[in-house]
Amino acid sequence: MKKSRRVGILGGGQLAKMLCDSGKKMGYQTVILDPNRDSCGSLSAHKHIVCDYRDENGLNELCESVDVITYEFENVPSETIEYLEKNRANIPQGKRPLYLSQHRVREKEAVSNIGVKTAEFKKVKNLDDLKKAIAEMEFPCILKTCSGGYDGKGQWKLLKESDLNEIEWNEKVEYILEKMLTFDKEVSCLVVRGIDGHVINFPIGENIHRNGILNMTIVPARIDREIVNEIENISKKIVERLDIYGPLGIEFFIKGKEIYFNEMAPRPHNSAHYTMDACNYSQFDAHLRGILGEELPKIKLLTPVVMLNVMGEDRDRLDTIPNDSDTHIHIYGKTEWKKNRKMGHINYCGKNIDELILKANSF
Ligand code: ADP
Ligand code: MG
Repeated sequence: MKKSRRVGILGGGQLAKMLCDSGKKMGYQTVILDPNRDSCGSLSAHKHIVCDYRDENGLNELCESVDVITYEFENVPSETIEYLEKNRANIPQGKRPLYLSQHRVREKEAVSNIGVKTAEFKKVKNLDDLKKAIAEMEFPCILKTCSGGYDGKGQWKLLKESDLNEIEWNEKVEYILEKMLTFDKEVSCLVVRGIDGHVINFPIGENIHRNGILNMTIVPARIDREIVNEIENISKKIVERLDIYGPLGIEFFIKGKEIYFNEMAPRPHNSAHYTMDACNYSQFDAHLRGILGEELPKIKLLTPVVMLNVMGEDRDRLDTIPNDSDTHIHIYGKTEWKKNRKMGHINYCGKNIDELILKANSF
C-alpha cells in the first residue's frame, strides 16, 4: 500500500465530490476549496476551505493542508494558480490546460495548429465583425461567448439575418463565430496523461444532448472501429503535442468519416461518469493516480452501459428507478433541486445497448 497522500481540489462541485470519494478508496485525505459553504463536495471531502479563489489566506491554508493540488473546473482564475505556484505548491497540471480551455478561440487555434480539424471559426467582438464574418462563412452558424459558457449557455444559433437581433452583446466579452456543422454523432473521449507522460484513454462515449445539456452517454459508442481508433489517436496527440497533464475530456463531432474537434476540458467529464460502474477504474481514480505519479492502469470496459443525467426536474421520478443490481444511482447531494441543474446520474449496465437505452428513456 502506498503512503497516505493529501490532495487539494480547487472547486467543490460534484466532480470534486466524486474525486474525494475515489480518493477515500485509496486512503487519501482530500481538501476542497470553494466559496460556496453548501457545495456538495463538502459531503465527501475531509476538509472544506470556504473562501474566494483569490483569497490568499485560504490559498495559504490549502498549501499547508495538502501535498498536491488539482482542479475540478476549467474557470479557476490564472492568478490562483500563479499564487499557489509562487508558494511552491505542487500543481502537476499547472495553469496551461486552463489557459487553453478557458477561451474557445485559443483552444481551437491550438488544436488546429497541430493539424486537428475543427469547424471553421472566427473571433468576433461586435455586430460589425459578426456581419463581416457571416458574409464569408455564410449561414447557418453559431455564435458563442469565448469564456464562461457551459451546457449551451452563451450561445446563439444563427440561421438567418433576423436571428442576429437575439444576441445579447456585452462589450467586455469576446465571441467566437463557428460554422454550424451537420453531424451524424457527437462523441467524447476522456484521456489522462500521468506525470510520467504515460497516456491512457477511456472508451469513447456517444453523447445525446437535450436543451444543450448532456442527457445520455452510450458506451460503446455506435461508430466504426476505425473511427474509434482515429479519435483515440487524435486525443492522444492533443495531450502530447499541447503538453497537457492530468485528465482531459474532449468532445468531437462525427460526419461520415470526418472527425471534428469541438471542445475540451482539463477535468473529469460528465460524459465519462459511466466509468464509475462500467470500467475497472473510474475517470476519478485515473485523474488522482495520474497527478500523484502512480502507474496508470490499462482501462477495460467491463460491460456496455448507458449513463443518464438526473436533472432538478426529475426529482419526483427517482422512485421509479428499477431496484436491480445493474442500475447504479449517484445523487450528488446538492441542496437545491432546480430545473436544468445536474443533480446526479444513473448508470444502466447490461448486455444489450438498445435495451439499456429503452430503460434509460423510460425514466
Ligand atoms: P458547451 O460548453 O455549452 O458544452 P459546446 O461548444 O459543446 O458548448 O456546444 C454545445 C452543443 O451545441 C454541442 O454539444 C453541439 O450539440 C452544439 N454545437 C456546438 N458547436 C456546434 C457547431 N459548430 N455546429 C453544430 N453544433 C454545434
Ligand atoms: Mg460541450
